[in-house]
Amino acid sequence: MYDVLIVGLGAAGYTAAIYAARYKLKTFIVGFEDGGMGLTAAEVGNWPGDIDIKGPDLMERFKKHAMSFEEVTHKIGRVEKIAKKGDHFAITLQSGDVVEGKTVIFATGSKKRHLGVKGEAEFSGKGVTYCATCDAFFYKNKDVAVIGGGDSAVEGAAIAAQVARKVYLVHRRKEFRAEPYWVDRVKARDNVIFVLENQVQEIFGEGKVKGLKLAKPFEGNDTLTLDGVFIEIGSDPSVDLSNQLGCVTDEKGFVTVKPTQETSVPGVFAAGDNTNASNYFAQFTTAAGEGAVAANGVFNYLSTVKVEGGYMG
Ligand code: NAP
Repeated sequence: MYDVLIVGLGAAGYTAAIYAARYKLKTFIVGFEDGGMGLTAAEVGNWPGDIDIKGPDLMERFKKHAMSFEEVTHKIGRVEKIAKKGDHFAITLQSGDVVEGKTVIFATGSKKRHLGVKGEAEFSGKGVTYCATCDAFFYKNKDVAVIGGGDSAVEGAAIAAQVARKVYLVHRRKEFRAEPYWVDRVKARDNVIFVLENQVQEIFGEGKVKGLKLAKPFEGNDTLTLDGVFIEIGSDPSVDLSNQLGCVTDEKGFVTVKPTQETSVPGVFAAGDNTNASNYFAQFTTAAGEGAVAANGVFNYLSTVKVEGGYMG
């Protein structure tokens, strides 16, 4: 029996594991994508102490740190089911293994949104992808479009512009949500073409992407001829597992947490992009902070149970 089961191998999950281990809690951490959304950050310029580090390298360091503790058991695998079993919890992995713990931290992150336009599903993996920074390097000297106006899209366009011939940045408004740092980076590139106040209507091709159709003409043409389309229109919280335990979500679909990161279900905590904490600001720093607070919450929760009448929270 573990003290805590952590689901998710991103910044929130690994930080929770580090803190839990230092509290001497027997910790099981599991997930199917080692590194989580952190893997998609080509350049991380806002992790304090590292002026410039790649997301996958940073996540490797998180993992190495977490796994340096003998209290931490690490497993790659998909969690299919979670259930309450008496006063504890049991998770069932795709492999059929069942692991039990006294508490849970959901650090399940988020999943990329789809546009829902004609051709998107047909050409997914054939020129349509959902991670510009991961896939841009396959498009050397090609023409691509990045859709969206947040950090993911604008960072993606900046990275793609380093290798692609032309990058169309298609955004439905004039203003960008992205950090001014990234907006300045793309504005400085003469191979980034801004297609603003416009939307994608259809993605077309033949076996692979050949272009997209816009809702309104751009420079007299309502199609763009392309080799790749990177859809970066945000993410939705991954709450399937926390829903299985009945954790309350807010009106936007994120797990509602208290300042301790505890959910509406006693003994169940959540941290990172799946929660409504940190004003929905999805960053390495906020995910790590929430992971630390969740592990502290677990420690206090377990201590409270042991010490009757005492409350350490
Ligand atoms: P986001 O901030 O939610 O931005 C999504 C963008 O897609 C918005 O510009 C939105 O337009 C547009 N969009 C949404 N639905 C659309 C639709 N159906 N059709 C067309 N456009 C649509 O998502 P994100 O960029 O993935 O960022 C998510 C979080 O991760 C943020 O907290 C962000 O700061 C963080 N992040 C940070 C970095 C970094 O370098 N610090 C890098 C990546 C991500 P509107 O603006 O009109 O709503």
